[in-house]
Amino acid sequence: MFETLRTQPPDKIIELMKLYADDPREGKIDLGVGVYKNPDGVTPVMRAIKTAEKRLWEDQTTKAYVGLIGDPAFNDAMVALVMGDAIERAQVASAATPGGTGAVRQAFELARMANPDLRVFVSDPTWPNHLSILKHLKIETVPYRYFDNATGTVDVPGMLADLEQAKPGDIVLLHGCCHNPTGANPGAGHWREIVAVLKQSGATPMIDLAYQGFGDGLEADAAPTRLVATSLPETLIAVSCSKNFGVYRERTGALMAVAQDTDRVAALQDNLAYLNRQNYSFPPDHGARAVTMVLTDPELRADWEAELEDMRTGMLRLREQLAAELRARSGSDRFGFIAEHRGMFSRLGATPDQVQRLRDDHGVYMVGDSRMNIAGLNEKTVPLLAEAIVKAGV
Ligand code: PMP
Repeated sequence: MFETLRTQPPDKIIELMKLYADDPREGKIDLGVGVYKNPDGVTPVMRAIKTAEKRLWEDQTTKAYVGLIGDPAFNDAMVALVMGDAIERAQVASAATPGGTGAVRQAFELARMANPDLRVFVSDPTWPNHLSILKHLKIETVPYRYFDNATGTVDVPGMLADLEQAKPGDIVLLHGCCHNPTGANPGAGHWREIVAVLKQSGATPMIDLAYQGFGDGLEADAAPTRLVATSLPETLIAVSCSKNFGVYRERTGALMAVAQDTDRVAALQDNLAYLNRQNYSFPPDHGARAVTMVLTDPELRADWEAELEDMRTGMLRLREQLAAELRARSGSDRFGFIAEHRGMFSRLGATPDQVQRLRDDHGVYMVGDSRMNIAGLNEKTVPLLAEAIVKAGV
């Protein structure tokens, strides 16, 4: 029967990783794959996670199943991290998922269970996996304007005008912070406008929060999510621990459903457990347990926050250095947006030809849409990249 199957289109980023690995040039620069790297090019196990894992190894006496929503302590700790004291715990249903991707997938499935004619509004552009999961689930997507390529900023009027087309029963997918792939984010005032449009439309917001702590800090990065979740009747939040705890391969994340009406929460909680049961039964536990230990032990938490802050400020310094080098070399301010963007990514705004030239002539590897992973740089490679960008005619 499998003669009916065709091979799937190759993943662009995985292809790029292979091209980079096969490139023999010494000074090549990898700005492709979306993992944090320290100045030595290493994706480290964070100190607090290492300590938590050691304790786990010593103290864990069983690996028996936990529960369909994972460890309740993990859900409590994650709800507290994301929502702070903006909302009562009783207003949030939460379940552990295999990474942020698992949460995104479960969120779409939950919404489709509630509304079989679901449409999901997605930013143009968005994380490609959003689109491929929606396509796989045969859910209709409606793109909304988001990125202004000329200025490297969010096209707020275009975004608001397109979101006005949403209606009750639609999901509007928003990136909580550190937009992937562009790095451009709405300001605080813009978020209030977005909330007003959402209220008016009656659509349900879904926030993808994959980079809390990578933008302006743990609290600042959660602020838009908290504003949305406290302003609208219902909000879905897909959370990833991959980046901010550095536990990528442990597959650690959570799906939260917030309801102002606490009577809805029991059914939401039950459906989150049901969906886990159908898709993979019990969610992975190891990463979730380590994350819970880090969040609930004051010493580990302080160490984690300090290391995360070092990562965040390191990326910000690289942004500022790159913007300054480009200003000096191009004699213009047109790359100033790189210092304003937040998170790991910036969309440079280069054409596919220029991206190809950067790769062929300068050994600079970025995704075809000119998304750069800022964490792939260090102080020494920033001037080389700036030189290459100007020489490639961007
Ligand atoms: N959403 C966005 C926007 C992302 O960039 C990512 C990570 N690339 C995720 C969700 C989920 O990541 P993971 O499944 O590795 O936790």
